[in-house]
Amino acid sequence: MAAAMGEIEDKLAELRQTFRSGITKSVAWRKNQLRALIELLQDNEDKIFKALHQDLGKHPRRLPLLFFPASGEVVSEPFGVVLICSAWNFPINLALEPLIGAIAAGNTVMLKPSELAVECASFLAETIPLYLDCKAIKVTNGGVDVCEQLLQQKWNKIFFTGSPRVGSIVMSAAAKHLTPVTLELGGKCPAILDTLSSPLDIKVTVKRIIGGKFASCNGQVCIGVDYILVEKKFAATLIELLKTTIKKFYGENPKDSKSISRIINEYHFERLRKLLEDPLVADAIVHGGLLDKENLFIEPTILLDPPLDAEIMTEEIFGPILPIITLNNIQESIEFINSRPKPLVIYAFTKDETFKKQIVSGTSSGSLIFNDTLVQQLCDVLPFGGVGQSGIGRYHGHYSFETFSHEKAIMQRSFFLELEPRYPPWNDFKMKF
Ligand code: NAD
Repeated sequence: MAAAMGEIEDKLAELRQTFRSGITKSVAWRKNQLRALIELLQDNEDKIFKALHQDLGKHPRRLPLLFFPASGEVVSEPFGVVLICSAWNFPINLALEPLIGAIAAGNTVMLKPSELAVECASFLAETIPLYLDCKAIKVTNGGVDVCEQLLQQKWNKIFFTGSPRVGSIVMSAAAKHLTPVTLELGGKCPAILDTLSSPLDIKVTVKRIIGGKFASCNGQVCIGVDYILVEKKFAATLIELLKTTIKKFYGENPKDSKSISRIINEYHFERLRKLLEDPLVADAIVHGGLLDKENLFIEPTILLDPPLDAEIMTEEIFGPILPIITLNNIQESIEFINSRPKPLVIYAFTKDETFKKQIVSGTSSGSLIFNDTLVQQLCDVLPFGGVGQSGIGRYHGHYSFETFSHEKAIMQRSFFLELEPRYPPWNDFKMKF
Protein backbone atom coordinates (compact mmCIF):
# COMPACT_ATOMS: atom_id res chain seq x y z
CA MET A 1 0.00 0.00 0.00
CA ALA A 2 1.36 3.45 -0.93
CA ALA A 3 2.45 5.63 1.99
CA ALA A 4 0.83 9.02 2.60
CA MET A 5 3.06 12.11 2.58
CA GLY A 6 2.64 12.66 6.34
CA GLU A 7 3.67 9.09 6.99
CA ILE A 8 6.85 9.51 4.94
CA GLU A 9 7.71 12.70 6.80
CA ASP A 10 7.16 11.01 10.17
CA LYS A 11 9.38 8.10 9.18
CA LEU A 12 12.08 10.41 7.88
CA ALA A 13 11.97 12.46 11.08
CA GLU A 14 12.45 9.31 13.14
CA LEU A 15 15.36 8.15 10.94
CA ARG A 16 17.07 11.52 11.34
CA GLN A 17 16.52 11.47 15.08
CA THR A 18 17.91 7.93 15.35
CA PHE A 19 20.98 8.85 13.31
CA ARG A 20 21.55 11.95 15.46
CA SER A 21 21.39 9.79 18.61
CA GLY A 22 24.60 8.09 17.42
CA ILE A 23 23.37 4.55 18.05
CA THR A 24 23.98 3.37 14.46
CA LYS A 25 27.67 4.26 14.75
CA SER A 26 28.39 1.61 17.39
CA VAL A 27 29.94 -1.60 16.06
CA ALA A 28 27.71 -3.63 18.40
CA TRP A 29 24.55 -2.12 16.85
CA ARG A 30 25.76 -2.83 13.31
CA LYS A 31 26.65 -6.45 14.15
CA ASN A 32 23.32 -6.98 15.92
CA GLN A 33 21.35 -5.61 13.01
CA LEU A 34 23.27 -7.68 10.44
CA ARG A 35 22.77 -10.82 12.57
CA ALA A 36 19.08 -9.98 12.80
CA LEU A 37 18.98 -9.66 9.01
CA ILE A 38 20.52 -13.12 8.58
CA GLU A 39 17.91 -14.44 11.03
CA LEU A 40 15.18 -12.72 9.04
CA LEU A 41 16.33 -14.48 5.86
CA GLN A 42 16.68 -17.86 7.55
CA ASP A 43 13.33 -17.70 9.35
CA ASN A 44 11.44 -16.53 6.31
CA GLU A 45 13.04 -18.36 3.42
CA ASP A 46 9.77 -20.02 2.39
CA LYS A 47 7.82 -16.76 2.51
CA ILE A 48 10.50 -15.00 0.44
CA PHE A 49 10.53 -17.76 -2.21
CA LYS A 50 6.74 -17.68 -2.32
CA ALA A 51 6.60 -13.90 -2.74
CA LEU A 52 9.29 -13.97 -5.45
CA HIS A 53 7.44 -16.70 -7.25
CA GLN A 54 4.14 -14.83 -7.08
CA ASP A 55 5.64 -11.53 -8.24
CA LEU A 56 8.12 -12.70 -10.84
CA GLY A 57 7.66 -16.43 -11.32
CA LYS A 58 11.19 -16.85 -9.97
CA HIS A 59 12.87 -20.02 -8.73
CA PRO A 60 15.44 -18.60 -6.31
CA ARG A 61 18.82 -20.26 -6.49
CA ARG A 62 21.99 -20.24 -4.43
CA LEU A 63 24.40 -19.43 -7.21
CA PRO A 64 27.93 -18.79 -5.85
CA LEU A 65 28.83 -22.45 -5.34
CA LEU A 66 27.65 -23.25 -8.84
CA PHE A 67 30.14 -20.78 -10.26
CA PHE A 68 33.16 -22.62 -8.82
CA PRO A 69 35.92 -22.50 -10.07
CA ALA A 70 36.34 -18.78 -10.78
CA SER A 71 38.79 -15.98 -10.05
CA GLY A 72 38.11 -12.29 -9.58
CA GLU A 73 40.10 -9.08 -9.81
CA VAL A 74 39.53 -5.34 -9.93
CA VAL A 75 41.05 -3.36 -12.79
CA SER A 76 41.14 0.45 -12.79
CA GLU A 77 40.18 1.93 -16.12
CA PRO A 78 40.08 5.63 -17.05
CA PHE A 79 36.64 7.23 -17.27
CA GLY A 80 37.48 8.66 -20.70
CA VAL A 81 37.09 12.36 -21.49
CA VAL A 82 36.98 14.49 -18.36
CA LEU A 83 36.22 18.12 -17.62
CA ILE A 84 38.13 19.91 -14.87
CA CYS A 85 36.79 23.33 -13.80
CA SER A 86 38.70 25.21 -11.15
CA ALA A 87 38.43 28.16 -8.76
CA TRP A 88 40.58 31.30 -8.66
CA ASN A 89 42.12 31.37 -5.18
CA PHE A 90 44.91 28.83 -5.87
CA PRO A 91 44.57 28.94 -9.64
CA ILE A 92 47.64 26.89 -10.58
CA ASN A 93 47.38 24.27 -7.86
CA LEU A 94 43.61 23.76 -8.24
CA ALA A 95 44.05 23.22 -11.98
CA LEU A 96 47.17 21.05 -11.94
CA GLU A 97 46.52 18.80 -8.96
CA PRO A 98 43.35 17.22 -10.43
CA LEU A 99 45.05 17.21 -13.85
CA ILE A 100 47.78 14.98 -12.40
CA GLY A 101 45.17 12.48 -11.19
CA ALA A 102 43.29 12.55 -14.51
CA ILE A 103 46.47 11.91 -16.52
CA ALA A 104 47.74 9.25 -14.10
CA ALA A 105 44.47 7.37 -14.55
CA GLY A 106 44.72 7.59 -18.37
CA ASN A 107 42.00 10.12 -19.27
CA THR A 108 41.95 12.89 -21.82
CA VAL A 109 41.23 16.26 -20.24
CA MET A 110 39.53 19.58 -20.92
CA LEU A 111 40.75 22.07 -18.31
CA LYS A 112 38.75 25.26 -17.61
CA PRO A 113 40.71 27.51 -15.23
CA SER A 114 38.93 30.28 -13.36
CA GLU A 115 38.52 33.45 -15.41
CA LEU A 116 39.07 35.57 -12.28
CA ALA A 117 42.77 34.73 -12.02
CA VAL A 118 43.44 36.16 -15.49
CA GLU A 119 47.22 35.81 -15.61
CA CYS A 120 47.25 32.27 -14.27
CA ALA A 121 44.53 31.22 -16.73
CA SER A 122 46.58 32.65 -19.64
CA PHE A 123 49.72 30.99 -18.33
CA LEU A 124 48.01 27.59 -18.19
CA ALA A 125 46.52 27.97 -21.68
CA GLU A 126 49.86 29.01 -23.19
CA THR A 127 52.19 26.69 -21.32
CA ILE A 128 50.35 23.37 -21.05
CA PRO A 129 50.38 22.77 -24.85
CA LEU A 130 54.15 23.36 -24.89
CA TYR A 131 54.75 20.47 -22.50
CA LEU A 132 51.84 18.05 -22.69
CA ASP A 133 50.22 16.10 -25.49
CA CYS A 134 47.79 18.68 -26.90
CA LYS A 135 45.73 16.00 -28.55
CA ALA A 136 44.90 14.66 -25.09
CA ILE A 137 45.02 17.69 -22.80
CA LYS A 138 43.35 20.95 -23.77
CA VAL A 139 42.76 24.21 -21.96
CA THR A 140 39.68 26.35 -22.61
CA ASN A 141 39.61 29.78 -21.03
CA GLY A 142 36.52 31.87 -20.44
CA GLY A 143 33.90 32.90 -17.94
CA VAL A 144 30.50 31.67 -16.88
CA ASP A 145 29.17 31.51 -20.48
CA VAL A 146 32.05 29.24 -21.52
CA CYS A 147 31.58 27.06 -18.48
CA GLU A 148 27.87 26.79 -19.30
CA GLN A 149 28.71 25.69 -22.84
CA LEU A 150 31.15 23.12 -21.55
CA LEU A 151 28.56 21.78 -19.14
CA GLN A 152 26.12 21.18 -21.98
CA GLN A 153 28.52 18.61 -23.47
CA LYS A 154 28.62 14.96 -22.52
CA TRP A 155 31.68 14.16 -20.36
CA ASN A 156 32.70 10.88 -18.80
CA LYS A 157 33.60 12.65 -15.55
CA ILE A 158 33.42 16.22 -14.23
CA PHE A 159 35.78 17.45 -11.53
CA PHE A 160 34.68 20.85 -10.21
CA THR A 161 36.26 23.14 -7.63
CA GLY A 162 34.17 26.14 -6.59
CA SER A 163 31.17 27.32 -4.61
CA PRO A 164 28.27 25.10 -3.48
CA ARG A 165 25.92 27.30 -5.59
CA VAL A 166 27.75 26.55 -8.84
CA GLY A 167 28.42 22.98 -7.68
CA SER A 168 24.69 22.41 -7.77
CA ILE A 169 24.52 23.82 -11.35
CA VAL A 170 27.35 21.47 -12.36
CA MET A 171 25.62 18.46 -10.80
CA SER A 172 22.32 19.24 -12.55
CA ALA A 173 24.12 19.47 -15.89
CA ALA A 174 25.96 16.20 -15.20
CA ALA A 175 22.71 14.43 -14.25
CA LYS A 176 21.40 14.83 -17.81
CA HIS A 177 24.12 12.46 -19.03
CA LEU A 178 24.51 10.47 -15.80
CA THR A 179 28.06 11.78 -15.63
CA PRO A 180 29.86 11.11 -12.33
CA VAL A 181 31.05 14.23 -10.52
CA THR A 182 33.61 15.17 -7.94
CA LEU A 183 32.64 18.47 -6.32
CA GLU A 184 35.28 20.23 -4.24
CA LEU A 185 33.21 22.96 -2.62
CA GLY A 186 33.40 25.37 0.29
CA GLY A 187 31.42 26.34 3.35
CA LYS A 188 32.01 27.57 6.87
CA CYS A 189 34.94 25.87 8.64
CA PRO A 190 34.73 26.33 12.42
CA ALA A 191 37.65 26.33 14.84
CA ILE A 192 36.73 24.96 18.27
CA LEU A 193 38.91 26.44 20.97
CA ASP A 194 38.83 24.35 24.14
CA THR A 195 40.85 26.52 26.52
CA LEU A 196 39.45 25.36 29.79
CA SER A 197 39.24 21.59 29.98
CA SER A 198 43.00 21.24 29.50
CA PRO A 199 45.87 23.71 29.29
CA LEU A 200 46.72 24.53 25.67
CA ASP A 201 49.74 26.32 24.35
CA ILE A 202 47.51 29.26 23.70
CA LYS A 203 50.07 31.43 21.93
CA VAL A 204 50.77 28.69 19.39
CA THR A 205 47.03 28.11 19.01
CA VAL A 206 46.33 31.76 18.24
CA LYS A 207 49.24 31.95 15.78
CA ARG A 208 47.86 28.89 13.96
CA ILE A 209 44.36 30.35 13.85
CA ILE A 210 45.58 33.71 12.53
CA GLY A 211 47.77 31.83 10.05
CA GLY A 212 44.77 29.73 9.02
CA LYS A 213 42.64 32.79 8.51
CA PHE A 214 44.69 35.69 7.18
CA ALA A 215 48.15 34.45 6.22
CA SER A 216 46.95 32.45 3.25
CA CYS A 217 45.20 34.66 0.68
CA ASN A 218 43.70 36.93 3.40
CA GLY A 219 40.82 34.61 4.22
CA GLN A 220 40.02 33.67 0.62
CA VAL A 221 40.66 29.98 1.22
CA CYS A 222 38.12 27.15 1.19
CA ILE A 223 39.79 25.48 4.18
CA GLY A 224 40.43 28.74 6.06
CA VAL A 225 38.98 29.24 9.53
CA ASP A 226 35.54 30.80 9.04
CA TYR A 227 34.70 31.41 12.72
CA ILE A 228 35.87 30.50 16.23
CA LEU A 229 33.80 28.75 18.91
CA VAL A 230 35.02 29.46 22.44
CA GLU A 231 33.69 29.62 25.98
CA LYS A 232 32.36 33.04 27.00
CA LYS A 233 34.77 33.46 29.90
CA PHE A 234 37.77 33.21 27.59
CA ALA A 235 36.52 35.65 24.90
CA ALA A 236 38.21 38.81 26.24
CA THR A 237 41.59 37.08 26.60
CA LEU A 238 41.24 35.57 23.12
CA ILE A 239 40.47 38.94 21.51
CA GLU A 240 43.59 40.48 23.10
CA LEU A 241 45.76 37.58 21.93
CA LEU A 242 44.33 37.77 18.39
CA LYS A 243 44.99 41.53 18.23
CA THR A 244 48.58 41.15 19.46
CA THR A 245 49.28 38.37 16.97
CA ILE A 246 47.77 40.29 14.03
CA LYS A 247 50.03 43.25 14.96
CA LYS A 248 53.04 40.94 15.21
CA PHE A 249 52.36 39.46 11.75
CA TYR A 250 51.25 42.58 9.84
CA GLY A 251 52.48 45.56 11.88
CA GLU A 252 50.52 48.55 13.21
CA ASN A 253 49.12 49.25 9.76
CA PRO A 254 48.39 45.98 7.90
CA LYS A 255 47.62 47.93 4.71
CA ASP A 256 51.35 48.63 4.38
CA SER A 257 52.32 45.04 4.97
CA LYS A 258 53.72 43.05 2.06
CA SER A 259 52.56 39.84 3.74
CA ILE A 260 48.84 40.22 3.21
CA SER A 261 46.82 39.59 0.03
CA ARG A 262 44.23 41.86 -1.59
CA ILE A 263 40.63 40.89 -2.28
CA ILE A 264 40.44 39.29 -5.74
CA ASN A 265 38.05 41.80 -7.37
CA GLU A 266 35.43 44.49 -6.81
CA TYR A 267 32.57 42.02 -6.77
CA HIS A 268 34.05 40.14 -3.82
CA PHE A 269 35.12 43.39 -2.11
CA GLU A 270 31.53 44.65 -2.27
CA ARG A 271 30.19 41.28 -1.10
CA LEU A 272 32.43 41.47 1.98
CA ARG A 273 31.60 45.14 2.56
CA LYS A 274 27.90 44.25 2.60
CA LEU A 275 28.50 41.51 5.17
CA LEU A 276 30.31 44.00 7.43
CA GLU A 277 27.91 46.90 6.93
CA ASP A 278 24.90 45.00 8.19
CA PRO A 279 24.15 47.29 11.22
CA LEU A 280 24.00 44.40 13.69
CA VAL A 281 27.29 43.03 12.40
CA ALA A 282 28.98 46.46 12.42
CA ASP A 283 28.23 46.67 16.16
CA ALA A 284 30.05 43.39 16.69
CA ILE A 285 33.44 44.60 15.31
CA VAL A 286 36.06 44.44 18.07
CA HIS A 287 39.13 44.85 15.85
CA GLY A 288 39.86 46.10 12.33
CA GLY A 289 37.06 46.98 9.94
CA LEU A 290 39.08 49.24 7.61
CA LEU A 291 38.05 48.97 3.94
CA ASP A 292 39.97 50.51 1.03
CA LYS A 293 38.15 49.95 -2.24
CA GLU A 294 40.83 51.53 -4.42
CA ASN A 295 43.38 48.98 -3.27
CA LEU A 296 40.84 46.17 -2.77
CA PHE A 297 42.11 45.92 0.80
CA ILE A 298 40.20 44.77 3.86
CA GLU A 299 41.94 44.82 7.19
CA PRO A 300 41.98 41.63 9.31
CA THR A 301 38.75 42.09 11.23
CA ILE A 302 37.44 40.37 14.35
CA LEU A 303 33.79 40.24 15.37
CA LEU A 304 32.37 39.19 18.71
CA ASP A 305 29.03 37.38 18.68
CA PRO A 306 27.44 38.74 15.50
CA PRO A 307 23.78 37.62 15.20
CA LEU A 308 23.62 34.00 14.10
CA ASP A 309 20.98 34.75 11.46
CA ALA A 310 23.11 37.53 9.86
CA GLU A 311 24.53 36.61 6.44
CA ILE A 312 28.03 36.60 7.91
CA MET A 313 27.04 33.56 9.97
CA THR A 314 24.93 31.79 7.36
CA GLU A 315 27.20 32.20 4.29
CA GLU A 316 30.84 31.26 3.74
CA ILE A 317 32.82 34.46 4.50
CA PHE A 318 35.78 33.82 2.17
CA GLY A 319 37.55 36.99 3.29
CA PRO A 320 39.49 38.50 6.21
CA ILE A 321 36.64 38.68 8.72
CA LEU A 322 36.80 36.39 11.74
CA PRO A 323 33.73 36.08 13.98
CA ILE A 324 34.08 34.69 17.50
CA ILE A 325 30.97 32.89 18.74
CA THR A 326 30.83 32.41 22.48
CA LEU A 327 29.29 29.40 24.22
CA ASN A 328 28.57 28.67 27.87
CA ASN A 329 30.31 25.33 27.60
CA ILE A 330 32.68 24.14 24.87
CA GLN A 331 30.68 20.88 24.61
CA GLU A 332 27.93 22.99 22.98
CA SER A 333 30.23 23.41 19.96
CA ILE A 334 29.23 19.93 18.74
CA GLU A 335 25.52 20.78 18.65
CA PHE A 336 26.31 24.21 17.15
CA ILE A 337 28.20 22.61 14.25
CA ASN A 338 25.65 19.84 13.77
CA SER A 339 22.82 22.31 13.38
CA ARG A 340 24.53 23.77 10.27
CA PRO A 341 25.63 22.36 6.89
CA LYS A 342 28.52 19.90 7.13
CA PRO A 343 31.82 21.81 7.00
CA LEU A 344 34.72 21.12 4.65
CA VAL A 345 36.98 21.10 7.73
CA ILE A 346 36.53 21.28 11.47
CA TYR A 347 39.56 22.57 13.36
CA ALA A 348 39.60 21.67 17.04
CA PHE A 349 42.20 22.93 19.49
CA THR A 350 42.11 20.69 22.53
CA LYS A 351 44.25 18.29 24.52
CA ASP A 352 41.28 16.56 26.09
CA GLU A 353 41.23 13.03 24.66
CA THR A 354 37.61 12.43 25.67
CA PHE A 355 36.48 15.62 23.95
CA LYS A 356 38.51 14.66 20.86
CA LYS A 357 36.64 11.34 20.69
CA GLN A 358 33.31 13.14 21.10
CA ILE A 359 34.17 15.45 18.19
CA VAL A 360 35.32 12.53 16.00
CA SER A 361 32.15 10.50 16.55
CA GLY A 362 29.71 13.34 17.13
CA THR A 363 30.33 15.53 14.06
CA SER A 364 30.65 15.12 10.30
CA SER A 365 33.00 17.12 8.06
CA GLY A 366 35.28 16.63 5.04
CA SER A 367 38.26 16.54 7.41
CA LEU A 368 38.88 17.07 11.09
CA ILE A 369 42.18 18.59 12.20
CA PHE A 370 43.33 18.74 15.80
CA ASN A 371 45.58 21.56 16.99
CA ASP A 372 46.56 23.11 13.66
CA THR A 373 45.11 24.71 10.53
CA LEU A 374 45.63 24.24 6.77
CA VAL A 375 48.43 21.64 7.08
CA GLN A 376 46.16 18.78 5.95
CA GLN A 377 46.22 20.30 2.46
CA LEU A 378 49.90 19.31 2.15
CA CYS A 379 49.46 15.74 3.34
CA ASP A 380 49.17 13.49 0.29
CA VAL A 381 48.37 10.32 2.16
CA LEU A 382 45.07 11.73 3.44
CA PRO A 383 42.03 12.19 1.17
CA PHE A 384 40.96 15.80 0.59
CA GLY A 385 37.30 16.59 -0.02
CA GLY A 386 34.01 17.60 1.51
CA VAL A 387 30.83 15.92 2.62
CA GLY A 388 27.21 17.06 2.27
CA GLN A 389 27.13 20.69 1.21
CA SER A 390 30.93 20.98 1.28
CA GLY A 391 31.43 18.48 -1.52
CA ILE A 392 31.26 15.03 -3.04
CA GLY A 393 34.31 12.82 -3.55
CA ARG A 394 37.96 13.33 -2.67
CA TYR A 395 41.43 13.58 -4.21
CA HIS A 396 45.18 14.12 -3.47
CA GLY A 397 47.86 11.43 -3.73
CA HIS A 398 46.53 8.03 -4.78
CA TYR A 399 42.94 9.22 -4.09
CA SER A 400 43.32 11.42 -7.20
CA PHE A 401 44.04 8.32 -9.26
CA GLU A 402 40.95 6.60 -7.81
CA THR A 403 38.81 9.67 -8.40
CA PHE A 404 39.57 9.60 -12.11
CA SER A 405 39.27 5.81 -12.48
CA HIS A 406 36.45 3.34 -12.69
CA GLU A 407 37.11 0.17 -10.71
CA LYS A 408 35.99 -2.57 -13.02
CA ALA A 409 35.16 -5.95 -11.51
CA ILE A 410 36.49 -8.82 -13.62
CA MET A 411 35.55 -12.45 -13.11
CA GLN A 412 37.19 -15.29 -14.98
CA ARG A 413 35.54 -18.68 -15.35
CA SER A 414 36.89 -21.83 -16.88
CA PHE A 415 34.99 -24.32 -19.02
CA PHE A 416 35.89 -27.00 -16.55
CA LEU A 417 33.18 -28.38 -14.25
CA GLU A 418 29.81 -27.52 -15.72
CA LEU A 419 27.15 -28.03 -13.06
CA GLU A 420 23.76 -28.75 -14.54
CA PRO A 421 21.71 -27.74 -11.45
CA ARG A 422 22.14 -24.08 -12.44
CA TYR A 423 19.95 -24.61 -15.50
CA PRO A 424 16.22 -25.32 -15.85
CA PRO A 425 14.08 -27.31 -15.88
CA TRP A 426 14.03 -27.12 -12.07
CA ASN A 427 13.19 -30.16 -10.03
CA ASP A 428 13.43 -31.09 -6.36
CA PHE A 429 16.95 -32.46 -6.75
CA LYS A 430 18.28 -29.27 -8.40
CA MET A 431 16.57 -27.06 -5.83
CA LYS A 432 18.77 -28.63 -3.11
CA PHE A 433 21.90 -26.95 -4.50
P1 NAD B 1 32.69 29.73 -8.37
O1 NAD B 1 31.79 28.61 -8.02
O2 NAD B 1 32.11 31.07 -8.54
O3 NAD B 1 33.49 29.42 -9.75
C1 NAD B 1 34.15 28.20 -9.99
C2 NAD B 1 34.13 27.87 -11.50
O4 NAD B 1 32.79 27.81 -11.93
C3 NAD B 1 34.83 28.91 -12.37
O5 NAD B 1 35.63 28.22 -13.30
C4 NAD B 1 33.69 29.67 -13.02
O6 NAD B 1 33.99 30.07 -14.34
C5 NAD B 1 32.56 28.65 -13.06
N1 NAD B 1 31.23 29.26 -12.89
C6 NAD B 1 30.90 30.31 -12.10
N2 NAD B 1 29.56 30.56 -12.17
C7 NAD B 1 29.05 29.65 -13.04
C8 NAD B 1 27.73 29.37 -13.53
N3 NAD B 1 26.68 30.11 -13.16
N4 NAD B 1 27.58 28.35 -14.39
C9 NAD B 1 28.61 27.59 -14.77
N5 NAD B 1 29.89 27.81 -14.32
C10 NAD B 1 30.11 28.82 -13.49
O7 NAD B 1 33.83 29.73 -7.25
P2 NAD B 1 35.05 30.71 -7.07
O8 NAD B 1 34.56 32.08 -6.71
O9 NAD B 1 36.00 30.59 -8.20
O10 NAD B 1 35.78 30.07 -5.80
C11 NAD B 1 35.32 30.27 -4.49
C12 NAD B 1 34.57 29.07 -3.98
O11 NAD B 1 35.29 27.88 -4.27
C13 NAD B 1 34.41 29.10 -2.46
O12 NAD B 1 33.14 28.60 -2.11
C14 NAD B 1 35.50 28.16 -1.99
O13 NAD B 1 35.27 27.61 -0.71
C15 NAD B 1 35.49 27.13 -3.06
N6 NAD B 1 36.78 26.44 -3.16
C16 NAD B 1 36.84 25.13 -2.81
C17 NAD B 1 38.06 24.47 -2.86
C18 NAD B 1 38.17 23.01 -2.45
O14 NAD B 1 39.20 22.42 -2.75
N7 NAD B 1 37.17 22.43 -1.81
C19 NAD B 1 39.20 25.15 -3.27
C20 NAD B 1 39.10 26.48 -3.62
C21 NAD B 1 37.88 27.12 -3.57
